[in-house]
Amino acid sequence: MSHEIQTVSVPEELRSTIAAARRAGKRIGVVPTMGALHAGHLSLVEASCRECGFTVATIFVNPTQFGPGEDFQRYPRPLANDLKLLSDYPVDLVFAPEQATMYPPGSTTFVDVGPVAEPWEGVHRPGHFRGVATVVLKLFNLVAPDVAWFGQKDYQQTLVVRQMVRDLDVPVEIRVCPTIREPDGLAMSSRNVYLSPTERRQAIVSSRSLRLAEHLVAAGERRTETLLARMQALLATEREVQVQYVAIVDPQTLAPVDEVGAGAVALIAAKVGATRLIDNVLLKPSLTR
Ligand code: AMP
Repeated sequence: MSHEIQTVSVPEELRSTIAAARRAGKRIGVVPTMGALHAGHLSLVEASCRECGFTVATIFVNPTQFGPGEDFQRYPRPLANDLKLLSDYPVDLVFAPEQATMYPPGSTTFVDVGPVAEPWEGVHRPGHFRGVATVVLKLFNLVAPDVAWFGQKDYQQTLVVRQMVRDLDVPVEIRVCPTIREPDGLAMSSRNVYLSPTERRQAIVSSRSLRLAEHLVAAGERRTETLLARMQALLATEREVQVQYVAIVDPQTLAPVDEVGAGAVALIAAKVGATRLIDNVLLKPSLTR
C-alpha cells in the first residue's frame, strides 16, 4: 500500500520530527543510502520497518567517499523514483539533504577508523572509508537512531562502521542484512546500471567464483590456496573482467587466512569495463564435517 512519505532536507526539521517519534516511545531505525534504490536497499528498509516503530531512510550521494576520477558526478540520482519505491513501505521519513547542508564551507573534521579500513577497499579507494565513517557518524548524530541497518554486500564497510561505533561510544545497534542478488547471482548495486549488456553478462563471473568457493567449502575443502586457485581459474575465463583483488580473510580482522577454519569471508573486487563492482560471501564449514 503506497503512501506519501514526508521528505526533509534540513537538520532542524529532521531532528524535530524524530524527537516527536521518540517522545511517543518509538524505536528509531535508520537506513543510510546513496539513493538509486534497488531491492537490496529495500530489504534494509523492510527489516527496519518490521523492527522499528519509526524508520528514517537517508538519501545522500556523499562526495567525501569518492576519490578523484571516481563516479561521483555521474552517480545516478533518481530521487523521484526512489521516493516512489519507498512509498510502498511504511517508511516514516526520508532525509535527503543538499551537499552544502552536510558539508557547509569550513567543515574540516573527518573520522579515521584505522586498520580495518586499510586493506582491500582501503588500498583501491584511498580515503573512501574516511568519507564513509564521517558521513555515517554525521547521520547518526542527526538522527540519533536506536538501530542502523547496513548490507553485507559492503562487508568491509560493516566492519568500519562497527569499529567506529565501538571506539566513539555511539549508542546505536548495528544490524547487517544479507546481500540481495539478481536471479543469476549478480549482487544488486546502484552501479549495475552502468554495465552494457555484454558487460552485464561478463560481470556474473565474480558472483560465480564466490559461489564456487561456497560449494567447495561445503564439499569439505578448507585450504584457501586451493579455493583461491579454483576461483582465479574461473575468473580468468572472462578476460574482460579485471580482478583487483580476490581474497579469503578472517571475518573480523580481514587478514588473509590459510584455512577456512571456523569461518571466513571471500572478498572480490573487479572492474568490468569502466565499472567497479565488489561482492563477498561468508564461508561457513558445516559442523558435521
Ligand atoms: P549504497 O546506497 O550503495 O551506499 O548502499 C546503502 C546500503 O545498502 C548499504 O548498507 C549497502 O551495503 C546496502 N546494499 C547495497 N546493495 C545491497 C545488496 N545487494 N543487498 C543488500 N544490501 C545492499
